[in-house]
Amino acid sequence: MARPLTATINLDAILNNYRYAKKLQPTCNAFAVVKSNAYGHGAVEVARFLDKEADAFAVAAIEEALALREAGVESPIMLLEGVFEADEWALCEQHGFWAALENEQQLSELLNSQVKIEKVFVKLDTGMHRLGVDMNGANDFVARLRESGQVDEVLLMTHFACADDLSDLATMEQLAYFERTRQLIGDIPASVANSAAIMKWSVPEGGWIRPGIMLYGISPFAEVTGTQLGLQPAMTLSSKVMSVRSLKKGDTVGYGYSYEAQEDHVLATVAVGYGDGYPRHAKEETPLQIAGQPAYLAGRVSMDMITVRMADYGQAPEMGQEVVLWGGAVPVEQVAEYADTIGYELVTRMTSRPKYRYI
Ligand code: PLP
Repeated sequence: MARPLTATINLDAILNNYRYAKKLQPTCNAFAVVKSNAYGHGAVEVARFLDKEADAFAVAAIEEALALREAGVESPIMLLEGVFEADEWALCEQHGFWAALENEQQLSELLNSQVKIEKVFVKLDTGMHRLGVDMNGANDFVARLRESGQVDEVLLMTHFACADDLSDLATMEQLAYFERTRQLIGDIPASVANSAAIMKWSVPEGGWIRPGIMLYGISPFAEVTGTQLGLQPAMTLSSKVMSVRSLKKGDTVGYGYSYEAQEDHVLATVAVGYGDGYPRHAKEETPLQIAGQPAYLAGRVSMDMITVRMADYGQAPEMGQEVVLWGGAVPVEQVAEYADTIGYELVTRMTSRPKYRYI
């Protein structure tokens, strides 16, 4: 019998979430952000499925873009981090990649290469202070790109630091700086919005939105799940009970004997662990389901297995029963909360060990 751990990916859910993003910002084109293996969902499978529908894909860097082309993906692909080496510009031309551009070295390498690129997105630092040029730098970059005749369309992009926090004025300030820069440059299309901004902020009309996490049905906001936002969660991580035993009140379990039974009950051992991407730091009482019933993590997460009890001590889990780690009635956002992290990290850190099943 094969190890029963399976990540089931609902591709229609991802397509529907993409359509939902476009519906929310109907004047914009939309990238489908599939970097980091489509946030753990399988970049090739996701991009092949969306290829006919997506306006373009976005990845972090050229290796990810090349892997998609090798898999037959035909839509334009944008490199969100731009190029790291000068010779990547020739590959961008060859494969129809678009790129973000944020520093003088990238700009002069592009100009020296003399390649033709369809779209270049000049990155404006509106406050996050990781990447990008300031207002005057952007104006100068855009002018030099336009004069070069190498680029069909130059766009201006930025990234928000706090778009997931609706009480924070930082996003308004970033947007105001962005718009002042656009006015200085003149007529230039914008790309500003990640999932949180697409769903909650009013973003410049036209141009390009960049939905990532929402495509996978996961919320970028604390305290609200993707389902509550009208999204369709795409990943269900499920496994089976591989062993059961009866515990007496006071019995201890697992590494560090960290779990102690508060009552007599049946304990289930389930085939999933941090070697698969289940979070090592998930606390006791992290929610899951066994055979459709609520259950809790009991004890420390091991590399290959976890130990679990039913929420109702009176119920006894049985060998072979289906366990849902997240997906369906177990929102990944809730699991993430119990592991002091965010849904983004849980799905993105999935390893290649589970079986991936696409429906
Ligand atoms: N745009 C850029 C530049 C990003 O780096 C990311 C992801 O980190 C996204 C868009 C998508 O963000 P989200 O997954 O929050 O929608």
